Amino acid sequence: MPKALNLLQGLSDKRLLQEGHNHLTKKTASGTKRDGASYVSAPTGLLAELTHRCPLQCPYCSNPLELERSNNEMSATEWAETFKQAASIGALQLHLSGGEPTARRDLEDILGYAVEVGLYTNLITSAVLLTKDQLSRLADIGLDHIQISIQDVVEENSDLISGYKGALAKKYAVANWARELGIGLTINAPMHRQNIMNLEKIIDFAVEVDAQRIEIAHIQYYAWAQKNRAALIPTHEIFLETVNIVEAAKQRLIGVLNFDFVIHDHYASRPKKCTGGWGQSIIVVTPSGTALPCHAAQTLPGLKFDNVKDQHLLKIWETSPAFNAYRGLDWMKEPCRSCDRREIDYGGCRCQAYAFSQDPAATDPACALSVDHASFAALAEQEAHAPAPAFVYRRYDGLSKK
Ligand code: SF4
Ligand code: SF4
Repeated sequence: MPKALNLLQGLSDKRLLQEGHNHLTKKTASGTKRDGASYVSAPTGLLAELTHRCPLQCPYCSNPLELERSNNEMSATEWAETFKQAASIGALQLHLSGGEPTARRDLEDILGYAVEVGLYTNLITSAVLLTKDQLSRLADIGLDHIQISIQDVVEENSDLISGYKGALAKKYAVANWARELGIGLTINAPMHRQNIMNLEKIIDFAVEVDAQRIEIAHIQYYAWAQKNRAALIPTHEIFLETVNIVEAAKQRLIGVLNFDFVIHDHYASRPKKCTGGWGQSIIVVTPSGTALPCHAAQTLPGLKFDNVKDQHLLKIWETSPAFNAYRGLDWMKEPCRSCDRREIDYGGCRCQAYAFSQDPAATDPACALSVDHASFAALAEQEAHAPAPAFVYRRYDGLSKK
């Protein structure tokens, strides 16, 4: 590897680049009683997948391959109870996600319930369905922050990746409205082989719309992204160029734009602490109410997940076998068990470990100490150097149904 690339790999390895976790401001004085705020290990946030319906068709979507149908979605009042319970056990942030959360016609009611219990609210959206009036009403209700996902800033490529015509212009408009209305703004930019050449322009876009933060995340290859991996995975060399671009932009834009950068697992030497540690930070709730320790947890074998309609969130958080399965250190095998990073990354991602080695308790193959690491990295390089196949799109618009 040339010297400059070696240097970049070193930077990436040392994880000098900030990882893509949330740094959203927490409300301090909501006036809401948080009975459980003193629990030692309260969740920091709840990620509410309000629906799996979405007008876009991103081939890397983190929703499961088996998308939940609209007739199983929880009602606004069921979400209200879930938010109340989340706040009562100490959660501070609520991420309203999907699918496309604005596909819910009762989004304003749902947001209102979250504001009522004092949660910091963050809307994660593709933005294409929002009108200025609707965004203004959401701001009036108390929406704190919006994260707009960008497929690309080159129009034809944005249309191609999202499977949706004209998304880019709408994202640009909504980002500007958000700033006019005083809503905090993050641009989410999932990175892959088919938009990576425009990374600098994507950063420029975030500056132009006056975003406070950009999250540049190399894709995690599970769910739809795993299905489309060969069409999405970049070469190691191109990945390292993104490290260079982000480092330079971070220096250039100090005080203008904050960066979160999620590096590419296949080209890492140590894994990320997945979702802040299994069962340690976040609760994901699917449209029908299934509570998960991470988005992809249902891909793991042998776990039974509870539903917020049947169990109080506190019980799920503290006693559910699924939340306890990979919590802490007891489940670990070597080399993680005796590794001095075991309480830093908790062995990495369980779903990635299982997907690659069929053992959910294995070391994440992103770790250079994993027996699978070399073949994990080699597979990526092999696919990245071959011609990209066509996308298998994630299709479930469902907009006329609810
Ligand atoms: S299809 Fe795209 S926009 Fe829609 S939920 Fe998935 S990643 Fe988000
Ligand atoms: S061996 Fe396990 S604990 Fe150690 S760095 Fe690798 S994944 Fe992390």
